[in-house]
Amino acid sequence: KKYEELVDLDKAHFLHPTSSIKQHQENGPAFIFTEGEGIYLKDIQGNKLIDSLSSLWNVNIGHGRKELGEVAAEQMGKLGFASTFATWSHEPVIRLAQKVAEMTPGDLNTTFFTSGGSEANDTAFKTVRHYWKLKGQPEKKKIVSRKKSYHGVAMGSTSATGLKPFHDFTTSIAPDFHHVDSSADALRAFIDEEGAETIAAFITEPVQGSGGVNLPPDGYFQEVQQICKENNIIFIMDEVITGFGRTGKTFGSDHFNIVPDIMCIAKGITSGYAPLGGMVLTERLYKELIDLSGDGMFMHGYTYSGHPVSCAVALKNIEIIEREGLVEHVREMGEELLRGFEMLKQEHDSVKDYRGLGLLGAVGLDAGTEEPIAPKVVSECFKRGMIGRAVVYDGQDTLAFAPPFVITKEQVQEMIDIVHESLVAVEKDL
Ligand code: PLP
Repeated sequence: KKYEELVDLDKAHFLHPTSSIKQHQENGPAFIFTEGEGIYLKDIQGNKLIDSLSSLWNVNIGHGRKELGEVAAEQMGKLGFASTFATWSHEPVIRLAQKVAEMTPGDLNTTFFTSGGSEANDTAFKTVRHYWKLKGQPEKKKIVSRKKSYHGVAMGSTSATGLKPFHDFTTSIAPDFHHVDSSADALRAFIDEEGAETIAAFITEPVQGSGGVNLPPDGYFQEVQQICKENNIIFIMDEVITGFGRTGKTFGSDHFNIVPDIMCIAKGITSGYAPLGGMVLTERLYKELIDLSGDGMFMHGYTYSGHPVSCAVALKNIEIIEREGLVEHVREMGEELLRGFEMLKQEHDSVKDYRGLGLLGAVGLDAGTEEPIAPKVVSECFKRGMIGRAVVYDGQDTLAFAPPFVITKEQVQEMIDIVHESLVAVEKDL
């Protein structure tokens, strides 16, 4: 009875993010989650489901961590909120900024905090424009990103996103955002055409997530960073998904020995237990900003920049990742995941290829059908106790995976078995 009541109320009053309004009105919410533990979520009807994407690539330490609840309650009881505007501060934000500086590569040492990834990227775009303006080059303002990239949904970050459905939603994107193919030559050609003096920054994910878990071409980042250096273009790494261990190293940039000028972070910094994101600047860039700013203001800030509860949760989350050796474990389980993908490829004609880095992986499908089959496979996975993710942008037919770091070898196998059975069921109906 409570279930029916909640379904009706959900349909009447809740507009779901990134959703089909029609499907929601016809079917109501697919799951009403009530609790979680480790890699599993439970819903109100008593279903226990493997969360194969860590919800939104973010619940990295797994569900049901009482320690995070305790630290949040303690912080709320002591200081639930305080402004960090102007020169005000508090201990959780200071300790977290120091911790992020310690963890990030090179001299990425100073963080501006936000509530999530979209805000982190918008902050970076505004900061690089501000920087070039202070340097006497206000026309150096174009933001270049890659096709198939995902950078969020605020006006700037959705404009940087290289997936057309997000642009179509809002009629037109912001001016001075441009998208290039994923080759160094494409970036070079763009710079030649537009002029380096008009380009403020280049932004990329180390591994494209929402666009289908696409690994970069070999040598791509090294070459692109060199091009950026030669042309005075600021290099921004969007580590919103890849940060804090997802790929089997602390940051995705670590795989490529890249120290970007700016790194954007979110998701895994709190494992989703509280909203938090940030823009991390290199010492060089920050020092320059200090020198150039004079008496001028850094005229950008969110009410929840450096929220004390989120910062306290982030510190505890990072402590758990380190204490339990989870990044190392991600590397090992990443190997298991790839072995599982290989089995799927051996057994299914519809599995075309697979890829992965740590616990960020994808299986490419091609069943020779006009419509992609990944959504059908995901529906079959639901029936067998697993929440999955299909990526169908740009004619893709892809299953994406990013399970919580705490997954065991047996649980990886359980996940692969469910995908296998689901593929069998879908292939039977082709
Ligand atoms: N950047 C990347 C690479 C992301 O994957 C996401 C979210 O999925 C974002 C930015 C946006 O972050 P948020 O949804 O926290 O605003």
